Amino acid sequence: MLSKQFNTALKVFAHYDRLKNSLKNKTSIPVSIEFDITNRCNYACFNCTWKEYIKESRTHMPKKDIMRIIRDCASVGIRAIIFSGGGEPLLHPAVSDAMRLAKRTGLNIGLFTNGLLLEGEVAKVVAESCDWVRFNLAAVTPEVYKKYHGVSISRFKHIENNIVKFNELTRHSGSKTIAGIGSTINYINFNDTSKLADFAYQAGCKYFQAKHDFTLLKDTVYLAWWKNTAMPIFKELESQYAPKQFSVDYTETDYLRKPLAQYCYVHHLAAAINADGDVAYCKRLRDRKASHLGNARRQSLKSIFTGDRNRKLCQEIIPQNCGVICPYLELNDFIASSINAVHPNFF
Ligand code: SF4
Repeated sequence: MLSKQFNTALKVFAHYDRLKNSLKNKTSIPVSIEFDITNRCNYACFNCTWKEYIKESRTHMPKKDIMRIIRDCASVGIRAIIFSGGGEPLLHPAVSDAMRLAKRTGLNIGLFTNGLLLEGEVAKVVAESCDWVRFNLAAVTPEVYKKYHGVSISRFKHIENNIVKFNELTRHSGSKTIAGIGSTINYINFNDTSKLADFAYQAGCKYFQAKHDFTLLKDTVYLAWWKNTAMPIFKELESQYAPKQFSVDYTETDYLRKPLAQYCYVHHLAAAINADGDVAYCKRLRDRKASHLGNARRQSLKSIFTGDRNRKLCQEIIPQNCGVICPYLELNDFIASSINAVHPNFF
C-alpha cells in the first residue's frame, strides 16, 4: 500500500497539461530532477544500484556548475530538485549553499541521505530548505548493519543520534520537512524489518518504506519471496502503525510482467543529472551514455530538453527496450490507459 507521498498516480493529475504538451511536442521539461552533486560515498552498501558507475567516476561536481544548474532548473520550469546519488549528497561541501539557492529560486527540494553527516549547520539548512528527507537505512542489528552497509557499527549510533536530533529540530523549529526511512529489503535484512519500522517511529520519522532490492528484480525466487513472505509482514506492520499516524509503505508491483505502455511517459516527468553533468533521459539510466541527452555543465537545460536528441530518444527508448526494470511500470501503464481512453470527453 502506498501513502499519499508515494502515490505517483495521484500526482500525475497535477501535471497532466504538461504531460500532454510533452506528448504533442515530443520534448519535455520534466517536473522533477534527481541531481547527483557527487559520486563519492562514505558507505559501501553491497547492493548499491550505482556501485559500478560510481567506482569508475568519483566526480565531485564543481560548485559553480552546481549553482548554475540549479538556477537553470528554476528558470526552465522544473519544479523540484532531489539531491540524490550517485554518492552521498551531504559529502559535498557546497550542499548547504546549493540547498539555500534552490530554496530561494522557489524549487521544492528533497534529499536522499544515509544521515551520517546530517548535523550542525547542515541539519539546520536541510530543515529550513527541504520538503522531505529520506534516510537510507537497511538494518538496526549491529552485525546486519555492518554486513549490509559495509561500514563499522559505531556509525549506526551516530546516525541514530542524527536522525532523532533532526526530527526534534524540525518539530521545534516549525519546519515542514517530512522525514522517513527507506530500506531495501532482501534475505539479509528481512529479520530487521519490524525493528526498522519501530526505529523510524521512535526516532520521530513519519514513515517507513520497504523497497525491493533492484539488483534482485530479475530473480523469480526473490519476487515470489517478496509476495508470499515479505508482503504479509509489511501488511501487518501497516495495520499496526496506522492508528499512530505513521505509514508503512511497500510496493505490490509484479515487476516481471510485461509493460503494456508502448511509450515511456514517465521520463517526461522525472529525469536526472549525474555528477559529471550528463542529463539522463530517465533517472534509472543516469549511468548509460547512450541515454544521455546532453551535458548541463556545458549546455542550457532548455536546449537539452527541447532539443532533437530528446525528440529522437523519445521514439527510440520505450518500456520494452529501455534495458532496466522500471520502477514506474504501473505508472506508465496507468498514464497510457488514460491518454488512450475511449471517448475521453464523456462522463
Ligand atoms: S525505466 Fe525505462 S520505462 Fe521506466 S521511466 Fe525509465 S526509460 Fe521509462
